[in-house]
Formats: sequence, C-alpha cells, structure tokens
Amino acid sequence: MTDRHPAGITILGATGSIGLSTLDVVARHSDRFRVAALTAHTDVDALARLCERFQPRFAVMADPLAAERLLTVLKVRAPDVEVLGGQEALAEVASLPDADYVMAAIVGSAGLLPTLAAAAGGKRVLLANKEALVMSGALFMQTVRDHHATLLPIDSEHNALLQCMPDNYSTGQAPRGVKSIMLTASGGPFRTTPMNRLAAVTPEQACAHPNWDMGRKISVDSATMMNKGLEVIEAGWLFDLPIDRIRVVLHPQSILHSLVEYQDGSVLAQLGNPDMRIPISHALGWPERIESGAQPLDLLAIGMLQFERPDLQRFPCLALAGQAWRAGGTAPAILNAANEVAVQAFLERRLAFTSIPRVIDYALEHCVVHEAGTLQAILEDDAQARDRAMRCITSGLGMTAS
Ligand code: NAD
Ligand code: MG
Repeated sequence: MTDRHPAGITILGATGSIGLSTLDVVARHSDRFRVAALTAHTDVDALARLCERFQPRFAVMADPLAAERLLTVLKVRAPDVEVLGGQEALAEVASLPDADYVMAAIVGSAGLLPTLAAAAGGKRVLLANKEALVMSGALFMQTVRDHHATLLPIDSEHNALLQCMPDNYSTGQAPRGVKSIMLTASGGPFRTTPMNRLAAVTPEQACAHPNWDMGRKISVDSATMMNKGLEVIEAGWLFDLPIDRIRVVLHPQSILHSLVEYQDGSVLAQLGNPDMRIPISHALGWPERIESGAQPLDLLAIGMLQFERPDLQRFPCLALAGQAWRAGGTAPAILNAANEVAVQAFLERRLAFTSIPRVIDYALEHCVVHEAGTLQAILEDDAQARDRAMRCITSGLGMTAS
C-alpha cells in the first residue's frame, strides 16, 4: 500500500445487506478506508454493534426516537461517536467534508434526498439505491455533473457494464462504439413456477432468491422482475442510452453479470460469483483493484451458463417499467412509488403477488405525469402515486384478472 491518507466513507443504510457487505470490504482495508458515518432506520442494536466495531465520527438513526435510544446505548459502549437523528441528518452525513466516499445503500425512495446530497457534495457516490436514480434521473445526473461527483454503480449488472465500457469512460456519457447493452437477470424464484400458482405465493417464497441474499424489498422486486425494469431505467441514465439499445436476457446462474455489445461485433462481459462484495470492491478501489473476500470463480464446477428470453406475460412489471421510461417525466417516479406501496402490501400479506403489477398499472393509468425537472415535482408525483396505489389496494380496484 501507499502512504495515502485513508479515504473517509459514509455508509447510508449500514445495517442492510449492501451496508454490511460494504463494511466487510472496508474492514479488509483499514489502511485505505476510515468510516466517517453510519446510518440506519430503526435497528438500534445493529447500528450500535457497528459503531462499537468501526468507531465512526457520526451515527444517524433516521427515526428520531431510535436516535435517542442509540444515544443512551452508545454513551456506554462507544462514547466518541456523535449520534444524530432524523431525515436531515442523513443528508448532513452524506455531505460531510471528511467523507470522500458515500455508499448509497438505503432501500427505496427514502434514499433520494441523502443520495442527492452526496452528489451535490461532489463525493464519490457508490450507488446501490437504484430507486433514487429511477425517481430523479435527469436531476440526479445533472447534480453529479454540476458538482463534479464521481458516480459508480454498485448494482452488479451496472457495475459489470461499467467494467466493460471503453477506456476512460465515465458514467453519464454516451459510450463510444457501443451498439447495445444487455442486462442479465436471474428470473428470481418463480422463473419456472406454474403461472396458476403465482397468485398464492408467500413473502417467504418470494424472498428466497436462488442466487443472491438481499433485503426483502429488492428480493420481491427480483421475483416480479420489477428489479430488472428499474435497472433498465437505471442503465438508461447511467450510460445515456435509449431503451431500444438496452436488452434484458435471463441467465439463471447469475455468473455473467451483463454485457456490452460493440459496433465491431465484440461483446464484453464481466463474470464472477454472485457476491456483492465484488462490485462493492470495484467501486471502492476504482481505478485500482482490491481484495473483496469473494470466492474465486470455478467455471468447471458451474459447468453450464444458460440464457433465455424473458416472458413478459409472467413478468408484466418489466413491460410496465419500459412503458414508464418511454412516457418520461415523472412516470418512472410514479412507477417506483406504486411499486414500493404494492411490495409493502404484499410483504404484509395484504396483496396477492400477482396483484403487484395491477396496482402499478392502475397508478400509471390514474396519475398525471409532469416534467421531472425539480425535486418538488418528483416528490409531489411520488406522493400522488402512493395515494393512488393505496386506494387501489384498499378498495380492491384493479384487482380482477385482466
Ligand atoms: P436492506 O433492506 O437489507 O437494507 C436497507 C437499509 O436501509 C438498512 O440499513 C435500513 O436501516 C435502511 N433504511 C430502510 N428504510 C429507511 C428509511 N426510511 N430511512 C432511512 N434508512 C432506511 O436493503 P439492501 O438489500 O441492502 O438494498 C439496499 C439498496 O441497494 C436497495 O436500493 C437495493 O435495490 C440496492 N441493491 C441491493 C442489492 C443486494 O444484493 N442487496 C443488489 C443491488 C442493489
Ligand atoms: Mg442488480
């Protein structure tokens, strides 16, 4: 290692799946990284344990009451850590002067404001929170440009695509010589489940992903393939490509994480075991390569890589995302908000799995789409979509098979 100063890192959503994987990598490189701040929503015990171990300067609980409890706990266990509470504190630690890097790993729209704050602070933004980019794409990319932030995707597919882009490529630019990009998708736990059984699947079944161990919301998104729909939109913003140059291919083994097709017929792909520490290490070390802790890839043990066309009847969410992306403006924010409401209702057993796309379709049909130039417009339409989606669920509107 060099004699460089360790980079300060804020981890938004430190107690989640991505947050913990990030800390696992950070712990392997204490000479390179120093934890500036850790945040969580309500899980005081989990954040307290992380604070004891990593001794950040700040710890934030998004929930103010949880912050009070954390303060009491840390007074004894980690008295040097300063405890903050509330949504504004998330944005504050995302733009700390001594945070060079910000891992944006809050799930859902709750991550929008702190992730934007990291971009406005000119940070190296490690973007896991795809919902933030889906909601605010144009505004977010403009903020990155205006403040000279460095935007590196953590989503395994987008990180793979970045690794396959031309030399000296930066996100937000249209890549030279690229004909199309292909996002791979595992197809989730219900890729081969008989269609007539899908209405009765449970949250536990939906969250049991065959290849990845993730938070509950993204697990359900993977099962409906809304995750891939959100990722198509994410890729459109990150790589400045129109939707007709972004393709989705099912690849059940999750070994090949996406492909870039060049004009000369070359196709570059990135492969690796399904372990998020690989893209996290890529973005933390970039442009250098650092140890991630992942197992080496054993192609002989895997034997075969399969590819299939996604079935849009089985996965209507994929088509809904394409529809929202084409509609433009706040339509992706409406799609995202309705999806968050529907997924939450499914996880709470108030909505059938197969009704998730119906709720989203209903919200897209019944919301007015606006220009997405301001944060206010985006947040208003996010609220509008939540309201429509909730009404659709509670009244049973749109629940009949169509
Ligand atoms: P998770 O549910 O495991 O963790 C979410 C984190 O966000 C937790 O630390 C939680 O405390 C925090 N959080 C939740 N609600 C919050 C709120 N209202 N305010 C503030 N903080 C809040 O989720 P995850 O699987 O780690 O996913 C995080 C993000 O990364 C998501 O946007 C997801 O789409 C993306 N992502 C995850 C994976 C993966 O493998 N898990 C892969 C690619 C992308
Ligand atoms: Mg992904």
